[in-house]
Amino acid sequence: MNRYLIGPAFCALFALVQPHAVAAKDPVTPSPVSEAELRESIAVMASDDFGGREPGTPGETKTIAYIAKEFSKAGLVGAADAAAGWLAPVDLVETGPGASAFSLASPDDKPRLIGGKALLAKDDGISFYSAAPSREVVFDGIVELGSDDEPATDLADKLVILAAGDDLRTTMAEVTRLAERKPAAVLIAVGDQAAFDRATSWVGRSRTTLASQAEEGKDAITGFVTGDALNAIDQAVGRDARGGFVPTKGTIATRNTVRDYTSYNVIAKLPGRDPASGAVMFTGHWDHLGTCRPEGAPDRICNGAVDNASGIAVLIAVAKRLAQMGPFDRDIYFVATTGEEKGLLGAYALSENPPVPLDRIAVALNIDTIAIAPRDAKVAIIGRGKTDLDPAIEHVAHTLGRSIERSDEANAFIRRQDGWALAQKGVPALMVGGSFSDMKLLEFFLSGDYHGPGDELTDATPLGGAAEDADLHVALGAYFADTETYRAKPKD
Ligand SMILES: [Zn+2]
Repeated sequence: MNRYLIGPAFCALFALVQPHAVAAKDPVTPSPVSEAELRESIAVMASDDFGGREPGTPGETKTIAYIAKEFSKAGLVGAADAAAGWLAPVDLVETGPGASAFSLASPDDKPRLIGGKALLAKDDGISFYSAAPSREVVFDGIVELGSDDEPATDLADKLVILAAGDDLRTTMAEVTRLAERKPAAVLIAVGDQAAFDRATSWVGRSRTTLASQAEEGKDAITGFVTGDALNAIDQAVGRDARGGFVPTKGTIATRNTVRDYTSYNVIAKLPGRDPASGAVMFTGHWDHLGTCRPEGAPDRICNGAVDNASGIAVLIAVAKRLAQMGPFDRDIYFVATTGEEKGLLGAYALSENPPVPLDRIAVALNIDTIAIAPRDAKVAIIGRGKTDLDPAIEHVAHTLGRSIERSDEANAFIRRQDGWALAQKGVPALMVGGSFSDMKLLEFFLSGDYHGPGDELTDATPLGGAAEDADLHVALGAYFADTETYRAKPKD
């Protein structure tokens, strides 16, 4: 028999028969998610052994291995790449301030001495910062801005000196506005050494970005200077009164430390019967802050039990139940993201390189910081009113006997969670649950243990609401993955 002859006909027949054969399977009623199940999972991820799950550390290796193993036990398949791998690489760049130098001369001039020195650096009370790996700019004059700043004053290629206000954030916002006038650099006069130390440690923290989004160094160089250092510069340029313009050239150089490393999103799939009908996606971030306190502190590890070991525990519990109940019509993706704490970086990487075209995602549900409320909390929606899915979600919540929070207060958090990265690209991305329906409870956490060593798993960690929300996500997954209950098809 020629298999090429019979193959297509057999396949066509099989395709016709298969959905009915699967549909005839007895529907599985999943067991409710219990507090004990979530507690066991959170205890692993929020243990000191996992070190606070910082990307690029041994804690990441343990975390992503644990999640992939749990997804595998649930019966999901890896969906990070064509080879059914679990791990999607996310290339990150960590930039920290290295060194900066200031001189009163352009590169081909002889430097003018400042208090006996040709170059001033941080130890001398002057320090500059840029987002780019390294910069060197020549300024063509010094302008000190007083309260009488005229927007018409030409700041292009000048070193602009600005007095610090009471609030550094306000001053930095002013720097951002001044940057539009293309100064070579803005130097903030902060006063004494203590103020200088505060400002430089605040601005000089390291920051992490996606390698694909690394800055090209178009920002204005920003610096801080003590009163003493500024006086020395004034003397060197012969400036006796503050204000006005001094036509002197100089050079500012900055160099950052740069660390490239790769972190990973964990991507799993419960294959559907009819992938052409689209996909449902669950997300939750696995990362947290790692070692977050200085040496000698009584507890140095930010374990992130609530933020967001609780969300990953729920993601795993939901995956296990949907896998027992499935397959459904649509594919269901489960994505544990990295780098949320560094600015939703794993979610942005996911949106740049998704396992399924974004316009085929019927709904994306993010699960974050879910161990907040006891049972019987109302169901709130982050993203309420932003999609046409609210009625469907309320319908599913009602079938579980849940009541609905009808205010859109929770939308205050819409940009502070991974779903935002997907929503910006047009994906119907929501967070649904009881942990943000009572703002007092949420604020109690956010103003307390949040992002500190106190976010640990204890007997008092409320898991009842998380278990109930896990059941809700099982029901939502089943509802949206079924083309009968949720008909809307992603556009072709
Ligand atoms: Zn966080």
